[in-house]
Amino acid sequence: MSIPKLDKLVPTKGASYKIKNPYLATVTQHYELSKVDSADQTFHITLDIKNSGITYLEGQSIGVIPPGQRDDGRKLKARLYSISSARDGDNEGLLSLSLSVKRLVYQDSDQKDVFGTCSDFLCNSKKGDKIPIINATGRIMLLPASNQVDLILIGTGTGVAPFRGFLQHISQSPSKWLGKGFLYLGFKRQKEALYCNSYNQELIDLCQKAGFNLNLALSREEKNQSGSRLYVADKMLSDYEAIKSIIANKNFAVYVCGLKGMEESISDLFEKITTELGYDWPIFKKELRLAGRWNIEVY
Ligand SMILES: Cc1cc2nc3c(=O)[nH]c(=O)nc-3n(C[C@H](O)[C@H](O)[C@H](O)COP(=O)(O)OP(=O)(O)OC[C@H]3O[C@@H](n4cnc5c(N)ncnc54)[C@H](O)[C@@H]3O)c2cc1C
Repeated sequence: MSIPKLDKLVPTKGASYKIKNPYLATVTQHYELSKVDSADQTFHITLDIKNSGITYLEGQSIGVIPPGQRDDGRKLKARLYSISSARDGDNEGLLSLSLSVKRLVYQDSDQKDVFGTCSDFLCNSKKGDKIPIINATGRIMLLPASNQVDLILIGTGTGVAPFRGFLQHISQSPSKWLGKGFLYLGFKRQKEALYCNSYNQELIDLCQKAGFNLNLALSREEKNQSGSRLYVADKMLSDYEAIKSIIANKNFAVYVCGLKGMEESISDLFEKITTELGYDWPIFKKELRLAGRWNIEVY
């Protein structure tokens, strides 16, 4: 069985900024997305790029160069962040790009908390600060060129970022998205559900406008059928038949973004469904990947 290649949107070539000549983008918005008492701190950060010549599409990432240098005096390497706005940015007419950045915290050998270099730099930045960035990159998470494709979007934590961009673009487009749309997002708790909680409902509104079905999996607040923590793949079980008919129809694309390790349970679910449809999952999965229909970006 073979599945046709998916045509995706093609980014235009904008101005070129590399690690040696980064663009200094000004912070125009900076606010915390997570509630103050939530375990993780995540910030929405908007950067003004209107004079840069940088262009991007929904689903691409931007490289940020943190301050400081390596032992040999070279600049620190750039960290990638998924762009969470649609191609024109959050504020119409003012070309910008937004990021959703979690402050990384890990323990050193003395069990002391250490903050991640670049995420801490971005989370501590303030309106008016200059952030060195390099070109937008990435072709995996680009949207299909046709609006008739059924979309299954799955994200955890800051993996929500590209989907905010997708939904912003789709809901602003003059033509409706004609394919079906399912968005599954995994967070620990409701108050940590980025862009979809009681104090920030942006994604709920965007999904409503775009006609997409939004489902949250709250691992510390919900249990799955066997009484364990509920993750996105468990949540997808409630749409099992709908997903099965989307796969049988073969005009779909799956996008997965977020925590490393999340792919396995999602792949297991697809294996169950596709086996019922009579497909050999390892072969089908490879075909889907080659056709641009199985898109994974985890970090
Ligand atoms: C395609 C892509 C998209 C991404 N999108 C996003 C996004 O939208 N939002 C987001 O928040 N992140 C995103 N990331 C992750 C981001 O690029 C960074 O990896 C993340 O912010 C951590 O970078 P940092 O500089 O803060 O941490 P670093 O300082 O680089 O530390 C990273 C890790 O290195 C280890 N480490 C470093 N130094 C030490 C040490 N001395 N001792 C022990 N361990 C150490 C730790 O395990 C730590 O967890 C994305 C990554 C990719 C590849």
